[in-house]
Amino acid sequence: MNRILLAEDEERIASFIVKGLRANGFRSETVDNGSDAVAFARSGEFDLMILDIGLPGLDGFSVLRRLRAERVEIPIIILTARDAVEDTVAGLSGGADDYMHKPFAFDELLARIRLRLTTPSATESTVLKAGDLSLDLRTRRARVDELDIELTTREFTLLETFLRHPDEVLTRQQLLSRVWDFDFDPGSNVVDVYIRYLRSKLGAERFETVRGAGYRLRTNM
Ligand code: CA
Repeated sequence: MNRILLAEDEERIASFIVKGLRANGFRSETVDNGSDAVAFARSGEFDLMILDIGLPGLDGFSVLRRLRAERVEIPIIILTARDAVEDTVAGLSGGADDYMHKPFAFDELLARIRLRLTTPSATESTVLKAGDLSLDLRTRRARVDELDIELTTREFTLLETFLRHPDEVLTRQQLLSRVWDFDFDPGSNVVDVYIRYLRSKLGAERFETVRGAGYRLRTNM
């Protein structure tokens, strides 16, 4: 069954969409602000996102930009109350797959959802790989050789971030912002602690410390 993430802060509209989705056999989860939209979309548990532009906190455009910058490929249908051409153009060039202007007929939204779910980007492989290490975004399970490794939610997100940026040095700041959603350094050593957890589960040599810079996932193992 397909799972839809709905980011919409207006309860009336959200409940209208949720009911329609349920009646058509979709499961959905609703968030009412931009930060949750980013966090949920990143989880890999959803097949498509319906994203309102006017959200509190981060607006829909910022959510879109952030997700695409992180190469989160979830198909996104933008909802906008503003009947402005610029919004649509900005949305589509920012990496949205489609858009709808409010108010809209549910059947039209449904048709667009179905279309997006059958295009190749929606059925893209959900397994990220680096050498003998792989991570299944659906089951949230890591494997080294043929061995399954259980990860906690944070460990999973941290590993996923590295796998999306193989051989790149990621700074503590980048990791804090992507995995913990801190746009500032809270002065804790949480990143180092979690790198230690991943090293103990997946092999210490895999995560290289780049002095004064951050960490890098080695892929030639
Ligand atoms: Ca809104």
